[in-house]
Amino acid sequence: MTSEAGTGTAPGTAPDGGTAPPPDDGAVPPADDGATFADLGLRPELLAALSRLGYEEPTPIQREAVPPMVEGRDLLGQAATGTGKTAAYALPVLQRLPDDRPGGDPLALVLVPTRELCIQVSEALHRYGRDLGARVVPVYGGQPIPRQLRALEAGVDVVVATPGRALDLLQRGSLHLGGVATVVLDEADEMLDMGFAEDLEALLDEVPEQRQTVLFSATMPRRLDAMARRHLRDPLRIQVAREVPVEGEAPRVRQTAFVVARAAKPAALGRVLDVESPTAAIVFCRTRDEVDDLTETLNGRGYRAEALHGGMSQEQRDRVMNRLRSGTAELLVATDVAARGLDVEQLTHVVNYDVPAAAETYVHRIGRVGRAGREGVAITLVEPRAHRMLKTIERVTGAPIHVERVPTVADLRARRLELTRAALRESLLGDDLERFRSVVDSLTDEFDVVEVALAAVKLAHEATTGPDDDEEIPEVTLRPERPRRDGDRGDRGDRGDRGQGRPPRARSVGGDTERLFIGAGRSAGVRPGDLVGAIAGETELRGRDVGAIEIAERFSLVEVPAAAAEDVITALRGSTIKGRKVTVRRERPR
Ligand code: AMP
Repeated sequence: MTSEAGTGTAPGTAPDGGTAPPPDDGAVPPADDGATFADLGLRPELLAALSRLGYEEPTPIQREAVPPMVEGRDLLGQAATGTGKTAAYALPVLQRLPDDRPGGDPLALVLVPTRELCIQVSEALHRYGRDLGARVVPVYGGQPIPRQLRALEAGVDVVVATPGRALDLLQRGSLHLGGVATVVLDEADEMLDMGFAEDLEALLDEVPEQRQTVLFSATMPRRLDAMARRHLRDPLRIQVAREVPVEGEAPRVRQTAFVVARAAKPAALGRVLDVESPTAAIVFCRTRDEVDDLTETLNGRGYRAEALHGGMSQEQRDRVMNRLRSGTAELLVATDVAARGLDVEQLTHVVNYDVPAAAETYVHRIGRVGRAGREGVAITLVEPRAHRMLKTIERVTGAPIHVERVPTVADLRARRLELTRAALRESLLGDDLERFRSVVDSLTDEFDVVEVALAAVKLAHEATTGPDDDEEIPEVTLRPERPRRDGDRGDRGDRGDRGQGRPPRARSVGGDTERLFIGAGRSAGVRPGDLVGAIAGETELRGRDVGAIEIAERFSLVEVPAAAAEDVITALRGSTIKGRKVTVRRERPR
């Protein structure tokens, strides 16, 4: 983490260097830099909400961004999904809402690229702002406009919007931006990529000049920097994660990541644990609630897991640690705060149930294994959206993280047989087997000796491995990195490339596509960017999911993933392109 303010390394995340005095097991030492949510100057209503949600400490981006934003400074934050960036701006936005809010017009505007993020961010604002009575309204393409109009008319404090829909509502006179004191552009690089540059400019022109402007982006292409220079005043620049490898900080451990959808995570974790069979492992979660839920799930699946978090008494924590040391428990599910300073000799595996919010946290966590020459294993479960943070971690640790397929049912069976084979081999080499000879002798009168051995292996296998799990875990892949040509791309106009016979850019979804007919073309002033903007604004697709575009004089053809075709048709039929209702249907076979 770097910032103009020169705070240097992220607080609270200094890796174990090996020279620190032996920690007091199970105790919660104060955070390395002492910065808690209360230290960030947040009001009690927000602190209560964070505590309810089980957030134990701020992430680095939150430590850096919250105090200056609360003071009203403009801010330019480079942070990807997974760093806690939403709360980093949502908390100050809520903090700055005046207690007395008689008016109905919005005081803050958050602009996001997609419907999915719009819903996610407004839910986060709603949860954090509950005790403040914050009125948060999401407006995005795809949802019927009348419902959004009613919500806006009822009075609102924070509007979270996709740019296309915000502009539409502004032009209809339904969204009033004259009272807006804070504007946040979230995932600004995505918004530019999706052709929203003009819409953003138009919206920013409508907000009072004397306002706070905050821009978050995973990357900072030149075009975005230029936009920030035009609209932000003396912004504080914050970047999550140092860009240079930290020599010698990362211990020698085997580092693996598995890409899994959120819903498949418990099953994937179980599968990975079965294949890895750790002696003892810590599974890190973000919040107390996640710790409790996952512990329950794992116990339900037959693991001996114990929860450890900041909400537990010292006595409870000691009990948990003793169970882990004695081997009564094999898994510890913990938050970072609770596990700080904890040293367990038997530990062989560290699991990140999510990609950590900062690269330094990752280094700190995996420092718990691979000590004193023993081999350690670090496993990270990555949701497809969080892949960028994984790359940052690789850069910081200077060591590759191998992305592997979640083991299949066949992999698991093979691994279990291997474990049985190893156990039998150990028994052949060491145990006193003579007392079983009479059993074998009597059976070999009737059966072949190999058959007797097979039956014995079967019994041993079933006794040690339990029932076979035959649930296949769906495979997902990381989104490919987009080719970047910073600075040389226009905004909407650059999509014109697509119509000139060039191949479409990388898509997040492979597989079948369908071409849609749209009843407006060049004569109506339609450009490729208008179509991409409309599709990305009105549906869950991102700009890069849209394939080749052809613009003819009176109509256009757009290639979209087949699975989303129906959604796109419905959404586009309900909206306008270049201010007009247009025909949208599947292309008829030629
Ligand atoms: P974001 O990077 O904003 O997409 O946030 C990633 C996830 O981290 C979300 O599920 C948040 O609820 C969660 N989160 C954000 N801040 C914290 C925190 N300080 N402690 C625990 N979880 C957090």
